Amino acid sequence: MDIKKILEYQKKDKEVIKLERELNSSEDKKIYENMVGVVKDAQNKSSQLEKNAEDVVREYDSLKKAFNDNQKMIDNLEKKDIQTLDEKTINEYKELTNKIISNLNYLEKKIMSQADAVKRILDDFDTTKKRYGAAKNKHAVHKQNYEALKNKVEPEIKKLQAELLQLEKGIDGELLSKYKSKRSDKFFPIFVPLRSTSCGGCMMELSTAQIERLKKNGIMECENCRRYIYLED
Ligand SMILES: [Zn+2]
Repeated sequence: MDIKKILEYQKKDKEVIKLERELNSSEDKKIYENMVGVVKDAQNKSSQLEKNAEDVVREYDSLKKAFNDNQKMIDNLEKKDIQTLDEKTINEYKELTNKIISNLNYLEKKIMSQADAVKRILDDFDTTKKRYGAAKNKHAVHKQNYEALKNKVEPEIKKLQAELLQLEKGIDGELLSKYKSKRSDKFFPIFVPLRSTSCGGCMMELSTAQIERLKKNGIMECENCRRYIYLED
């Protein structure tokens, strides 16, 4: 079996693999892809905070209304002329006044804690906004770097691919389809020589019977790493 041509093909394809690897492992790409997540998180956080803020403001308004209602009641009680009232009614009024005052105290505390909650939300908003802005900038910078690399590398890949297509014409169809079915960055190279008595890919030792078969067929699939082992001239 003539495997010279597929080896030549693999050698050129190695350059493509190298360029593809360069693109895929680009730090800039990793960073800007990460930043997409950070930006999205910040957006989610913002809308969550907006919803929280609405709840807090609503709660604040209803507390404020309750406070004003109680205040009005106490104002009305204070206007009453005690001289005209009997003792029983006065006592009832006193009791009511105390109740209302305790209501007012409670409401005041609640209102203050709501005000604190508003402040916390605003602080959170601020932090989130900063994080969002920083992530957006970082995304833009690293995306630009990556695009520059891509614009440099992609034409090189295209050129090599055109050359590979030319080479394909002279390669045994079966070998080529074997090659293509296994081609991936992690698997490369696909055709490896026999090194002494071991697979040139994973270095697993072959049995004498396997080597005999390899000598007969010129090529065999490694049982361990699934690469194709060939005999070197
Ligand atoms: Zn192997």
